[in-house]
Amino acid sequence: HKVAIGEEVATSTGVRNRKSLIPDNTILAASDHDFTKLSLTPSVILLCKIPASISESFYHGKVYTSYKNTVFEPSSGIRHSTEFFSTLSDHYLNSTEIPPIMCLYTDGGPDHRTTYGSVQVSLLCLFIRGNFDMLIAMRTAPAQSWTNPAERIMSILNLGLQGVALLRDQMSSEMEDLFSRKNTLEEIRLVAKNNSQLESELRNSIKSIQQLLNRRTERLVLDNENFICKSPADDEEIARFFEIKKCGNIECEICTMPRTPQEVFESLDFLPDPTPAAHDSDHYANFFMVYNKPTTDEHQPSKKIAATGTERGPSGLYINTKVREFITCNECSKVRCLFSGRQLTEQDGLEIRHAIENWPYTCGSTVFPQDHNLFDKVFVREKICCKTPMEFTYYSCRKVHSDRCYHCGSTDDLQDKPDSLMEKYKSILSLCAGCQDKGLDFFCRMPIQTKKRKHDQ
Ligand SMILES: [Zn+2]
Ligand SMILES: [Zn+2]
Ligand SMILES: [Zn+2]
Repeated sequence: HKVAIGEEVATSTGVRNRKSLIPDNTILAASDHDFTKLSLTPSVILLCKIPASISESFYHGKVYTSYKNTVFEPSSGIRHSTEFFSTLSDHYLNSTEIPPIMCLYTDGGPDHRTTYGSVQVSLLCLFIRGNFDMLIAMRTAPAQSWTNPAERIMSILNLGLQGVALLRDQMSSEMEDLFSRKNTLEEIRLVAKNNSQLESELRNSIKSIQQLLNRRTERLVLDNENFICKSPADDEEIARFFEIKKCGNIECEICTMPRTPQEVFESLDFLPDPTPAAHDSDHYANFFMVYNKPTTDEHQPSKKIAATGTERGPSGLYINTKVREFITCNECSKVRCLFSGRQLTEQDGLEIRHAIENWPYTCGSTVFPQDHNLFDKVFVREKICCKTPMEFTYYSCRKVHSDRCYHCGSTDDLQDKPDSLMEKYKSILSLCAGCQDKGLDFFCRMPIQTKKRKHDQ
């Protein structure tokens, strides 16, 4: 989710060239171009009121929101941890009131990938700083982006964003000129790095928008409690968060005493892996059935095998001439083909770029949500999973693409194709050193027919 700040947007009043802020997934078609050049990224923290029973709703509690300048306040694991701890410190007046056991449920975005080292380090900082007895970090299962519980808060947030049209403050003409010549986030960041005037003027030009969004957001309500807006953490605050100190306890040089009563602390087990129910393999077993029992990670949603059946798109669509674009899986980094019956328009291209930037894609899911106008026009194979190798159409399509290992999608350390295979097959798909080490081999297709005598006769 991003709140894009359009540079030139046709508004409903027919007034053009008004600098406007538009909620992205609603008036996308009204914006001409550049709609991702400047944007604000909302982040949402819901501190749940934990229900008495597991079957009750978890969507009660206090919502904290902040709007981050996408150029200068990029999302990262350590930023999330810093801001999360700062929110906890605001919410609980006294640090001893911060619960000793913390369960974090995050969306599937890369900054929350609990398998990333950088994310793990950030979580460790949070664990130490918050003096938690136990910290559990979970994220939405792959291919479930649309069912992410945070979406429910996001839909309330969208109410506050709807129908907003705003003037971004003008910068000096010199800076406007400089800015108009830079198009991507990378370019803007690079110039601003060497030009502090651009950075401060850009930050200031968005400030009033940030403030207005804050005011609107603080009128939103969940369970009769108003949302609260927080300023994004600044670099200094983030740097301070990263300092890890010894606890000072003489007996233990790493952590302090557990805060929960000893018998509670001792009874705490790690979260069980998802395990199929004994008599219903379509569903996972109830938490209480598997808690305190040894489980394995083999049934994790990301390890599940691909769904079977026919693809959703029209038959005959999934061929090399219909490949229009590529998309990268957030989980396995393989590149998947986007198919469309007709050529993509410039607008389609923008919307695809928008989807890629905003909704983390994983193998097996759709590119667009169901209510999107491209949901039935641009397709990716859905009957696949992260274990599915690269698609043949990737190699044979006319779109420019780099050579990749068939098994893992890597572009690095691709091995030379042996002559012995080249003689026998028309098509040999690449193999990387890593996959070769794992015992995988070149994938060969279309054997070359050795000329038979019959033809000569
Ligand atoms: Zn210790
Ligand atoms: Zn994947
Ligand atoms: Zn490989």
